[in-house]
Amino acid sequence: MPLKRIAAGSNYEILNYGFGGLLRGLKSKRVLITGGASGIGAATAARFIEEGSQVCVLDRDRAGLHRVKTEITGLAGAVEADVSNLSQVQDAFASAARLMDGVDVLVNNAGISIRHKFLDITAQEWDKVIAVNLTGVFNVAQTAARHMMEHNGGVILQTASTNGLVGQPFYADYNATKAGVIELTKSMALELAPKIRVCAVAPGYVMTPMQRAEYTDEMLAEVNAKVPLRRHAQPEEIAALFAFLASDDAAYISGHVYTIDGAEIAGGLASR
Ligand code: NAD
Repeated sequence: MPLKRIAAGSNYEILNYGFGGLLRGLKSKRVLITGGASGIGAATAARFIEEGSQVCVLDRDRAGLHRVKTEITGLAGAVEADVSNLSQVQDAFASAARLMDGVDVLVNNAGISIRHKFLDITAQEWDKVIAVNLTGVFNVAQTAARHMMEHNGGVILQTASTNGLVGQPFYADYNATKAGVIELTKSMALELAPKIRVCAVAPGYVMTPMQRAEYTDEMLAEVNAKVPLRRHAQPEEIAALFAFLASDDAAYISGHVYTIDGAEIAGGLASR
C-alpha cells in the first residue's frame, strides 16, 4: 500500500515508502498518536499502518478526525479529546485501549503555536500554549505510562522542536514548552526504565498546515534558503523517525532528543 500524502501545501514529490513492514517489531504494535488528524501526526499514523501496526489517532478537531478516517485506510480508531483536559484524555485513552486491546506505543504529538512578539504575548495566549504543549503532553504521557507500567511496558515518543534547543524569535512561549517537553522526556525515561523507553523528536521546519498557517510563500522561501538542505522536511520524514524509534531496531535508545532539521541548527548561521 503506497503512503498517501496528508499534509497540505507541499511542493515536493511524495516519498514512497511503499515497501512496507521493514522495521523490526512494529507489525503487532498498538499505537496511539495525538494530533493525528493533521500534518506530522497523520503522516505518522499512515506510516505505522504501513508497518503493520494498529493505529488509533486522538485529536480535538472533529472535522479533521472525519477527514483522516476517510483518507487513511486501516485506522483502528479516531477518538476526540482536547489534550489539555485530563478527564477527556483519560476517557479517550480508555477508548483507544479498548479499540486496540491495549496501547504499546504513544506518539505524543499534538501541539499549537502562535506567532507573536514576546512583548505582545497576552496572559491568555501564554496559558493556552502551555496548556496544550506542556500540560497536554504531560496528561497523555502520564495516562499512557500508567497503562504501560500495568501491562507489558512500551514506548513513548514526544514531539519537541528545534525551538526547544535554540532560541527563535516570535515564539517565546512555544519555545519554552518545547524545551520543557525535552526535559520531561529525559526525566520520564529515567523513572520509567526499564519497562518504558521515552524519547523526544525535535523537527526543524516541516511543511504542514501549522507551518502554512503562519508563513507566507516569501517567508517559506526565505527559510528554505537558510536551511542547509534547502527545503522544509516532509511530514513523512518525521514519521519515519518515529517509526524507527518505536521499533525493536531502537531497543537500546531512550532518554534523548533526536533532531531532524536538514542541518538547520548545526551551524550558527543556519536559520538566522
Ligand atoms: P498541525 O497543526 O498540522 O497538526 C497538529 C494537530 O494537533 C492538529 O490536528 C490539531 O487539531 C491537534 N491539536 C492541537 N491542539 C490540540 C489539543 N489541545 N488537543 C488535541 N489535539 C490538538 O501541526 P504539525 O506541524 O503537524 O505539528 C505537530 C507537532 O509537531 C506539534 O507538536 C508541533 O509543535 C510540532 N512541530 C512542528 C513543526 C513544523 O514545522 N510544522 C516543527 C517542529 C515541531
